[in-house]
Amino acid sequence: MIDTPAARNWAGNVRYSARRRHRPATVDELRRLVAGSDRIRAVGTGHSFNRLGDTTGDLVSLAGLPPTVDLDPERGTVTVAAGLRYGDVATRLHGDGYALANLASLPHISVAGAVATGTHGSGDAHGNLATAVAALELVTADGDLLTVDRADERFAGMVVSLGALGVVTRVTLDVVPTFDVRQYVRLDLPGDALDAAFASAYSVSAFTGWRTGRIDQVWRKQRADQPPPPADWLGTRSAPAQRHPVPGMPAENCTPQLGVPGPWHERLPHFRLGFTPSSGDELQSEYHVAREVAGDALAALDAVADRIAAVLQVCELRTVAADGLWLSPNHGRDSLAIHFTWIGDEVAVRPVVAAVEERLAPFAPRPHWGKVFGLDPASVAAAYPRYADFRALLAELDPAGKFRTELLDRHFPRS
Ligand SMILES: Cc1cc2nc3c(=O)[nH]c(=O)nc-3n(C[C@H](O)[C@H](O)[C@H](O)COP(=O)(O)OP(=O)(O)OC[C@H]3O[C@@H](n4cnc5c(N)ncnc54)[C@H](O)[C@@H]3O)c2cc1C
Repeated sequence: MIDTPAARNWAGNVRYSARRRHRPATVDELRRLVAGSDRIRAVGTGHSFNRLGDTTGDLVSLAGLPPTVDLDPERGTVTVAAGLRYGDVATRLHGDGYALANLASLPHISVAGAVATGTHGSGDAHGNLATAVAALELVTADGDLLTVDRADERFAGMVVSLGALGVVTRVTLDVVPTFDVRQYVRLDLPGDALDAAFASAYSVSAFTGWRTGRIDQVWRKQRADQPPPPADWLGTRSAPAQRHPVPGMPAENCTPQLGVPGPWHERLPHFRLGFTPSSGDELQSEYHVAREVAGDALAALDAVADRIAAVLQVCELRTVAADGLWLSPNHGRDSLAIHFTWIGDEVAVRPVVAAVEERLAPFAPRPHWGKVFGLDPASVAAAYPRYADFRALLAELDPAGKFRTELLDRHFPRS
């Protein structure tokens, strides 16, 4: 063991209850560890906000495994060590002339941890980050090494795994030729122009403080060869200087804006590697609803806008394309993701999360698996058509419940 994973998650609101923490240096060491443990969970970079990744047994980080990045130009894929951060993978890929189609708001998260929770970026045409996964290698409950790819009928159930099916050691991702992006921040978008804004560019994010009927900022990330938005674009005005999404936070933490072209991995995330993403002192919740009901869902939240605003740092709206992954929040439906960066006070935030969930309930919301939510298990299960199939997969691959957590037991009770 070289080192141990951190004792707490990034936000500091979860202290892991693991009795032992490990950082193996080889896959064989990891296999022995998994085979010999009765209760074990993998941890990535700890950027989740709930106890999904917690265990009372062994907590294992893959950050000590060799940081391999193997490009296969013929197949159009790259196979990476699962514990690597997206930012590290991106730098290597760009150097070789390749890119990933999309990234989340921060490059600091591990590939395996992000994929396991269905982490997403934005863009009407882009699936979440898990949709780029072409194959997985994982250590299963008995310590065996299993490789699965899209040809395997279980694969669609194994990508967004919630860490419950094994410890993922290598991930193969689809790549595309590298490309440049320009990022423009526009201010004061009228609420009824939201769909037009989302459709206007490669990746678009809208930020609101829920204090007015307008969107305070739109971050429009467009391919560099596309023309810039006109001066009167959708009734907005240009931000005169670099912005942070959270009012009062330093804009230098953010990726360059003002239309300055740069490589995909330095524009698609909002935050720069090496700087604190978001605000740091925060909690996050997020709900995905189908695009067809998105307007009604946002209107339903208007009734609790004052309560939201009172504990909010910023709300971000993004679009994600539909996919076929069983536990993906975007399974079978093009989605609007309604994200809340709350203040870092769980006691104040929890009742507002409950109020938001009550208002969203008629719209079959699917929570971000790695963020703060309290939706009852029955309603979450009902929102996932392949829920029963995932439970069967859990029973098949982890019959003794080695990778289970309290949160998993609540949402996927053993039969
Ligand atoms: C500032 C900030 C910004 C964020 N922005 C976004 C965003 O833009 N979009 C979005 O969707 N989410 C976002 N998130 C949430 C974040 O992307 C997810 O919570 C993601 O899962 C974190 O990845 P991680 O590597 O930190 O995983 P962890 O939090 O460490 O783990 C998450 C889950 O993955 C499992 N896991 C980790 N590694 C492995 C492995 N090797 N094998 C099997 N299972 C594993 C864990 O057991 C756990 O269940 C953000 C979070 C923060 C703090």
